Amino acid sequence: METAGTELPCRRLQYFAMRFSGRLVIAQVGEFGRFQCLNLLRRPALWPSLPIADQSHFVYNLTNACSNSKTKALIPSGFFVSGVDWPRNRKGQRNPVADYTAPIADMRFAATRLADFAEVTALPGGEELSEDLLDAIFAQAGKFASGVLAPLNRVGDLEGSRLENGVVRTPEGWLGAYRAFVDGGWNAVPFAPSYGGQGLPWLLGTALQEMWHSANMAFSLCPMLTQAAVEAISHHGSGELKSRFLPKMVSGHWAGTMNLTEPHAGSDLAAIRTRAVRENSHYRIRGQKVFITYGDHELADNIIHLVLARLPDAPEGVKGISLFVVPKYLTGVNGDRGERNDLRCVSLEHKMGIHASPTAVMSYGDNGGAVGFLVGEENKGLQYMFTTMNNARLSVGVQGIGVAERALQKAGDYARQRVQGRDIVSGASGPVTIIHHPDVRRMLLTMRALTEASRALAYFAAAKLDIANRHHDAATRRQAQAVVDLLIPVVKAWSTEIGSEAASLGVQVHGGMGYIEETGAAQFMRDAKIAEIYEGTNGIQANDLVGRKLIRDGGAAAKSFMETMRLLASGYDGRDQELSQLLRALATGLDHLEAASNWMLSTHGAADQKAAAAGAMPYLRLWGTVAGGWLMAKAALAAKSDLASGKGDSSFLRAKIITARFYGQHILPRASGLAAAATAGADTVMAMPDEAF
Ligand SMILES: Cc1cc2nc3c(=O)[nH]c(=O)nc-3n(C[C@H](O)[C@H](O)[C@H](O)COP(=O)(O)OP(=O)(O)OC[C@H]3O[C@@H](n4cnc5c(N)ncnc54)[C@H](O)[C@@H]3O)c2cc1C
Repeated sequence: METAGTELPCRRLQYFAMRFSGRLVIAQVGEFGRFQCLNLLRRPALWPSLPIADQSHFVYNLTNACSNSKTKALIPSGFFVSGVDWPRNRKGQRNPVADYTAPIADMRFAATRLADFAEVTALPGGEELSEDLLDAIFAQAGKFASGVLAPLNRVGDLEGSRLENGVVRTPEGWLGAYRAFVDGGWNAVPFAPSYGGQGLPWLLGTALQEMWHSANMAFSLCPMLTQAAVEAISHHGSGELKSRFLPKMVSGHWAGTMNLTEPHAGSDLAAIRTRAVRENSHYRIRGQKVFITYGDHELADNIIHLVLARLPDAPEGVKGISLFVVPKYLTGVNGDRGERNDLRCVSLEHKMGIHASPTAVMSYGDNGGAVGFLVGEENKGLQYMFTTMNNARLSVGVQGIGVAERALQKAGDYARQRVQGRDIVSGASGPVTIIHHPDVRRMLLTMRALTEASRALAYFAAAKLDIANRHHDAATRRQAQAVVDLLIPVVKAWSTEIGSEAASLGVQVHGGMGYIEETGAAQFMRDAKIAEIYEGTNGIQANDLVGRKLIRDGGAAAKSFMETMRLLASGYDGRDQELSQLLRALATGLDHLEAASNWMLSTHGAADQKAAAAGAMPYLRLWGTVAGGWLMAKAALAAKSDLASGKGDSSFLRAKIITARFYGQHILPRASGLAAAATAGADTVMAMPDEAF
């Protein structure tokens, strides 16, 4: 068997032309499928049902591509495949797996029907965002994600970033993709117009981020970290810092990083030792930071590091930490790039996943001290970090959703192709594709239900963030902020766990091929894990939910949100048989959430912090499960009403109802187990002697 040399990626399923015994066949890429290839050869009747992609990039017309009339006869008429011209890696291999289609219908539904879209578009600066504009932006972003970023995902995994002679090299194709990202204006979407941003709501920015992360999580970390740095400078920097750094960071010509972690200071940032000493109008920074995402690279002309450091006379602990802007290249007042600052990337970590994202050990001040500029006031650095954390944590939660969606698409494609076993439903004797097996369908629906529920929750939180930032009425802003504060740890931790759960199920759907790296399903699992760890581990998120967000107002914000969710469950009049189980399961889930919340309030209040802390993680999962169930129920009701009035795409709406009902039957029942674990106390947790572990 000899390949024809023309590889023809299309949007979700990739095929390439292959010569087999002198005949042209279309083989699915990724399955390396002698199996799939022969299947297609034997069953040409399948060909016309292959997806016909749009003509976003290079369109290959298979018929025209083949001059041989014998092979022409084998190709169904009108069969086009499109995609970008995939780069070769250093071994000359082309990227075999780049299958991602942005789930625009569901993103649109979550943004316009489940989040407060009308309120967001009535906000100052949000008026421009109509549903039509949303559609247009989603369509363009979807093309960029599937056509440019997704094909590089596997390349990045295989090549990784490398430190060569003091220079960090990103994988082949990265630079071009980054330039295209910046030139397309994608970096600037949510930022203030005064610094060149497009001023569009976070609701939109969050949905776009999902596409970037789905397509290529390792790539998308670069703009994500720039976003965090822009936020920190925008909220707390002086006018001079803003005008000097923000325009180029907002456009993406300069990138940003966040330098918090040190070898002995991870979750506990009070232990930070990096020093800052005052010198004229700036400071000299000396110390080492570890695990710095995109700490060095050549994608952008300059890298603006945000660095936490301690002044010599600073108070001990968290109250003595300051925040500094430390650019890789110093700049003139007009923002021109100047001489190299005293900082360097010492090494890059070898990681389990996101290989292409350079995770750097950074050294500041080896030659006298890096020049840094104070952000805001001295000793308030950690406080500033907290005020910018909501966006960053929301973004990391969205990474989990992005990976879950990608894993789902890949698993669904595989399940529709892989032939194995008999159909126990129809009893037919011939072999069937595995999508016929109830257990495979259960796995796919679990992935789908969790992905859709976590997407809805993240978009809902993003809309509240917009309202909290931009609403003219202070009381409305405060209420929205209370919801954001409560939901952010849930979105971060629950969604990132969903990323791992879905990626793991995706491998399972593939069977043995899932465990083989070339298939690509394993990469999602390796990539997904880090999102549970950085930006505050999920354990820290759970502590935050219980120890701060629930307790600080005596449970008022949590109770108010539970009442909102109750309205949907209690408003059900029992007439709609199809949704009755879902709504009953939601009501039961809310009972569990309320009881567990009361237990947490009284237990924490009684100063039994260890009991509350031992149950914090299941309590957070309980929140995610129930809030996700509330939004799935809302989705099902909206879908029913659209179907009844003949609005929208009926197959999408019917699928939404099935997914929501599945959530009611298979996911919401988790609430009772989670509530039991959340309120079990710390007796057994603390009883085991350390040395017995
Ligand atoms: C690939 C990668 C990229 C990263 N990018 C960045 C970056 O760009 N900038 C940056 O500053 N940092 C970055 N980090 C660091 C990351 O934020 C930290 O790894 C994370 O905060 C956890 O810190 P740690 O690794 O020291 O773990 P530890 O703090 O040692 O935690 C170990 C375990 O103990 C638990 N634990 C710790 N304290 C508590 C507590 N009080 N209560 C309950 N449980 C607790 C944790 O949940 C965890 O399970 C990155 C890390 C990685 C691996």
